[in-house]
Amino acid sequence: MDRIDLFQQTSLEGVSDLQLFYGELSERMDLLRHQTGFTCIEKCGKCCNVASEKIETTIFEMLPLALHFIRLNKHDEILELLKSDNLGKDTCIMYKKLNDDGSQGYCSAYVNRPLICRLFGAAVRIKSDDSKEFVMCKLLKEIVAKNPSLSDLADKMVVIQEVVGNARGLNVNLTSELYNINEGLKLAIEHILFRLRWFDPTDHNPTSTNNNNFDLVA
Ligand code: SF4
Repeated sequence: MDRIDLFQQTSLEGVSDLQLFYGELSERMDLLRHQTGFTCIEKCGKCCNVASEKIETTIFEMLPLALHFIRLNKHDEILELLKSDNLGKDTCIMYKKLNDDGSQGYCSAYVNRPLICRLFGAAVRIKSDDSKEFVMCKLLKEIVAKNPSLSDLADKMVVIQEVVGNARGLNVNLTSELYNINEGLKLAIEHILFRLRWFDPTDHNPTSTNNNNFDLVA
């Protein structure tokens, strides 16, 4: 186990569980895609091609991506890129455009993307009257409405309030504030770098923590 692994397991509350949670969600989304054929439009990047202030996240949900960059020693480069974000008016720095207007593109951080990006297009919200509302773009809603075979799609999707509540319950301190996605990534990298500076691996027993025995998604 290297220093960063040990740091993650002993000093970053809930992150190892969050990564397992992300893995479980991915498996559940894959199954849904397989069962229903419902998926995003290929190369469409419209939901990412918006000002970063429109995509809210927490520091905690950005920690897996921040750790990924720190492991690759790319954090300084990423922090430099994040400095140029125009107060939340630019797109997420992970979004790579494939055409001039950015309507087509892809996520360059797909494996480590935060929770909100995993749920958009793949979840429902329970409204105050107990009805279900899709958490997805207009284009996808139109596809669902026109396709009778997707009439029960809402019942097969995860409920955003439950999933977000479960994930944020893993670390209440770093989920109390919302930030735009670029700011969230910057703060997550800074949080880890600050904590790592004081981390002494000899103080920690790697077998004493990280009990991954849980079932997060109902
Ligand atoms: S992290 Fe990826 S999926 Fe999320 S907004 Fe950025 S580019 Fe899009």
